[in-house]
Amino acid sequence: MPELAEVEYIARQLRANVMGAQIAGVDVFWPRVVAHPAPETFAAEIAGRVIAGINRRGKLLLLELSGGGWLTVHRRMSGNLRLLKADEPDERYLIAQLRLADGRRVQYSDPRKFGRLAFWRAEELPAALAGYGAEPLAEDFTAEKLAEILHGRARALKPLLLDQSRIAGLGNIYTDEALHRAGLHPLRRADTLTSAEIARLREAIVTVLEIGIAHGGTTFGRHQTLFGEAGRNVQHLLVYRREGQPCLTCGTPIQRIVVGQRGTRFCSRCQPAPDITE
Ligand SMILES: [Zn+2]
Repeated sequence: MPELAEVEYIARQLRANVMGAQIAGVDVFWPRVVAHPAPETFAAEIAGRVIAGINRRGKLLLLELSGGGWLTVHRRMSGNLRLLKADEPDERYLIAQLRLADGRRVQYSDPRKFGRLAFWRAEELPAALAGYGAEPLAEDFTAEKLAEILHGRARALKPLLLDQSRIAGLGNIYTDEALHRAGLHPLRRADTLTSAEIARLREAIVTVLEIGIAHGGTTFGRHQTLFGEAGRNVQHLLVYRREGQPCLTCGTPIQRIVVGQRGTRFCSRCQPAPDITE
């Protein structure tokens, strides 16, 4: 499932390749993908506009369009964006496409169809983004900010880090990787961390995301770059999907437990279990 790193990589590729391109037309082949407004209005609103900016909020990709409007893409489970030249064949599981005036197409494909596209007028955008928590790659994601997020929370770290309304963009892969790098057990209560542990966790979150982005994201399932390549981050993961294999730091076999219905990997030696009296 694409997380912040996979979405950010695509955002950077789009920025390098389609900035300033005009959208000649929009085709929606599976109308339920359009979350807002009605599918016909969606296509009519976007056609003719120029791609003026590429942004990201958590796992949401935002294309700023000329004339004051935003196209948002949430890939959810299995959505992918591809940039195709005029003579390249359509993607499998094609859901919608932007036809650029120069003949290229930006295609959205999604076999499971959980992803969503939307168009927002500029004044509608803030409400559309209102539920998103802190942005981990923003300059203001400091140890103090993370301390505020964790303060007074009796929840375990793993589900709290996955909560998009607290921190936007982390999913199962990068949460497990960050907790491992920080030496924190996934079941530690958020309100029991010391200042030093909070600083380590902030650093670990930023580090795992930057490593993921640098390698084009993590591909176990469908994630591909804008040009159809698999992400190369799997070989840089320390714990995710490495259960039974030795911890790269201490050699202890990586364990898998289920936390909040999510498979969770950790090293029982590097990430000691919380004291139950805490
Ligand atoms: Zn270890």
